[in-house]
Amino acid sequence: MSGTSFYNREIETMRRERLREWQGERLRSLLAELAANEFYQAKARAAGITLERIERIEDLASLPFTTKAELVEDQAARPPFGRLLTYPLSNYRYFHQTSGTTGRPLRWLDTDESWNWWTRCWGMVYRAAGITAGDVVFCAFSFGPFISHWTAISGAWHVGAMAIAAGGMNSEQRLQTLTDNRCTVLISTPTYALHLAEVASLQGINLRDSAIRRTIHAGEPGASLPAVRQAIETAWGATCFDHAGATEVGAWAFDCGAEAGAIHLNEAEFIFEVIDPANGEAVAEGARGELVITNLGRGCMPVVRYRTGDLVEMTSEPCACGRGFARIRGGVLGRADDMMIVRGVNLYPSAIDNLIRSRPEVIEYEVRVRRVAGMDDLLIRLETAEAVPFAETAGALLAIFRRQFGIRVSLEHAATGSLPRYEFKARRFKRV
Ligand SMILES: [Zn+2]
Repeated sequence: MSGTSFYNREIETMRRERLREWQGERLRSLLAELAANEFYQAKARAAGITLERIERIEDLASLPFTTKAELVEDQAARPPFGRLLTYPLSNYRYFHQTSGTTGRPLRWLDTDESWNWWTRCWGMVYRAAGITAGDVVFCAFSFGPFISHWTAISGAWHVGAMAIAAGGMNSEQRLQTLTDNRCTVLISTPTYALHLAEVASLQGINLRDSAIRRTIHAGEPGASLPAVRQAIETAWGATCFDHAGATEVGAWAFDCGAEAGAIHLNEAEFIFEVIDPANGEAVAEGARGELVITNLGRGCMPVVRYRTGDLVEMTSEPCACGRGFARIRGGVLGRADDMMIVRGVNLYPSAIDNLIRSRPEVIEYEVRVRRVAGMDDLLIRLETAEAVPFAETAGALLAIFRRQFGIRVSLEHAATGSLPRYEFKARRFKRV
């Protein structure tokens, strides 16, 4: 069952050639707007390019990439907002900043116009997941200056749904609010959806009896991983949808539900490229590479050819839902900088997450990456349900790791409740 509907059927079902033309028009108007953008004018000058002369999407490749490090450096050199604002400061109304998990937070501003653009991008996420007026959307986040929580609320209102901002509550209070108000849609990280399910089961609440019929996730790759998705759908008795976005970029991907684990890129509002992170060259369609994004509707503080660090495999094969937008198989597969080399095998946290979650008795886990005799070694500490003997879980996981990756890992039983629980951006991998 997909239950998908369109936000803008005409654009979403365009043939790809027409879609490229549409993107080209949007790109030209963006680059014209950037005549007043000091950051991008300086970048273009340094590369010997005139932004306004770029006519076609193919010419975009002549522009240099934008990196997060550059943006951080720009704001540090010219605090607080750097040179990336196209308009005078008085035009901006919305302040947010990145979560800062990988360093100093980036500040980001929006005007009314760009805020409405964000909201429309979320409209596409919600419509594709079949959310309409009559739905009650429960946003299980700690509301602060992080943008996606607010845009999730704004987008829910935009498609006519009711929205509940469940900040300032613990998990028990959230479960109570969610059931009392007959919420139909849960928005959370995949990790937190599983954590809420764990808390519910300790309280004797069966979430399958709740009114929740859809769950929409972001912040971590989990919802496109088959085992994580299965675990969430089983616990909640709901259909699970993935989505991807970033503060600097916008809500750039959504899930139509037609094919589990393949999510659409929003090509109405963004231009996507996939490159080899080592040399910056475009990779062949379907090959794994780093996603590079240009957003087309946020000219007030835009990103052009922004290196996301997200590893994806993109396909433009037609989707059963009828959309012409390309898809990424498996969602975001990992971060370019998250790769571990364990006994000569390249491993990403998302792949390990998927294997561990294939055992439903695993409640929480932590991975310690250790250096043993000159090689990376994984020690996985697991909290498991008492109903299954730990030896059985350990035996099954060892066999799966051997079969899938040809490696041996070390497993350890952790006491119930001893491992940290995460509401947002889980940090289960630790180098020790
Ligand atoms: Zn589709």
